[in-house]
Amino acid sequence: DLHADLVVVANRLPVDRVTNPDGSQGWRTSPGGLVTAIEPVLNDNDGVWIGWPGGTDEAMEPFTDNGLHLVPLSMSEQEIEEHYEGFSNATLWPLYHDLAARPEFHREWWDTYQRVNRRFAEKAAEVAAEGGTVWVHDYQLQLVPAMLRELRPDLTIGFYLHIPFPPGELFQQLPWRRQILEGLLGADLVGFQLAGAAQNFIRLVRQRVGHKTHRDLVYLPDGRTVRATAFPISIDARGLDELSRTESVVKRSEEIREALGNPRKVFLGVDRLDYTKGIYARLRAFAEVIADGHFDVDDAVFVQVAVPSREQVETYKVLRDEIERLVGRINGDHGKLGQPAIHYLHSSYPREEMAALYRTADVMVVTPYRDGMNLVAKEYVACRANDDGALVLSEFAGAADELRQAWLVNPYDLNGMKQALLDAYRAEDRELGRRMRAMRKTIRQHDVAAWADSFMSSLAEVRGAHRKTL
Ligand code: UDP
Repeated sequence: DLHADLVVVANRLPVDRVTNPDGSQGWRTSPGGLVTAIEPVLNDNDGVWIGWPGGTDEAMEPFTDNGLHLVPLSMSEQEIEEHYEGFSNATLWPLYHDLAARPEFHREWWDTYQRVNRRFAEKAAEVAAEGGTVWVHDYQLQLVPAMLRELRPDLTIGFYLHIPFPPGELFQQLPWRRQILEGLLGADLVGFQLAGAAQNFIRLVRQRVGHKTHRDLVYLPDGRTVRATAFPISIDARGLDELSRTESVVKRSEEIREALGNPRKVFLGVDRLDYTKGIYARLRAFAEVIADGHFDVDDAVFVQVAVPSREQVETYKVLRDEIERLVGRINGDHGKLGQPAIHYLHSSYPREEMAALYRTADVMVVTPYRDGMNLVAKEYVACRANDDGALVLSEFAGAADELRQAWLVNPYDLNGMKQALLDAYRAEDRELGRRMRAMRKTIRQHDVAAWADSFMSSLAEVRGAHRKTL
């Protein structure tokens, strides 16, 4: 039914289209942490999820898949190009990631961004029950909270940003900075990955919009308050831990090591092929450690999974060419017959294969220039049931706030990265165990269920406070 007490609004629906063996079309729940986290919350509240189903089809009716009530919102080709590929991924994405690429500012993209945000807000206004709660997700939909509040002042609105929120000096570049801030201020609660991001937001709201603030609260002229706080996202730590111990994953992990030629140490990188991830720099660092003579391909190989991503966007095409040229050069310089130094996989893998890869990797290398959280780092830790394995982690990944026992690196510092790779390669079992046990404790305590619960209970608190003042 379309009067839901809880509505989740995200750019994508948590399902992918599949063709069944009999040729008919069906859906499969997409792998991913967000759906795992939100599913129980949705089920408890008989909630619905609004999002784009992928593709450019005609309007679709709401449907139920695996117990999830889904409300598809279709997108035209122009909307995909200008809202998704354009404003979201070529303007906001690089701007919010410390200018890891140069953001493009186009007025037509902004027009389409507004239009698409309005369609999401109108859909949410249509399906939410009187006095219900709406939880809006991520940078593609930052205008939805204010648009929705105007349509439906009775609702409690939460917003969560999964990517970083930049410091004022960078955010200022955005020609539509004020509209974005005001869009977010339509929410009762604005959640960020890190405390620093929440502070960036509060400071901008005070200095640029001129609202009064105190700690994590913003006081609006109409008497409403907005809370802006960090809720670091996490993973299903217990589920992954269990998966990594299953017989089939253990066996697959042995097969992978065998296929790699039984090197002493396996290094692993797993990323979407994105310029924020620092893939190029880490592979260079690895190659230089070989060139310096510290180890060769009998001692260590690097497996790099590069998941195809945003392949229509020009920067991503260029990046792919650069990385693939580098991999070719490294293998040409350092590989032997049947023994490349870098095993490069431009592909994406299911959860089981990921768990087997994590289980195989002696050194996990996560070196983004900027990353909201980086779930891969946490997943690696969750899959190290034997309390061994080394994590080399960028200081600029959100995960570095919690995983303090990783070998923390500055991805701009090539020598520093080389040293960390070498230290991780040489680390003794006791050292590895000490660090891994501490990190495993952290992720067990702060798993994704705890994340969703803490966001939802903060939102409920805000709602309680409103009721009192009404
Ligand atoms: N992932 C996957 N298959 C792959 C590679 C990655 O399922 O072949 C998953 C990975 O397990 C993780 C997510 O993709 O859950 C990537 O999340 P992360 O926060 O690390 O980076 P993002 O892609 O969101 O920037």
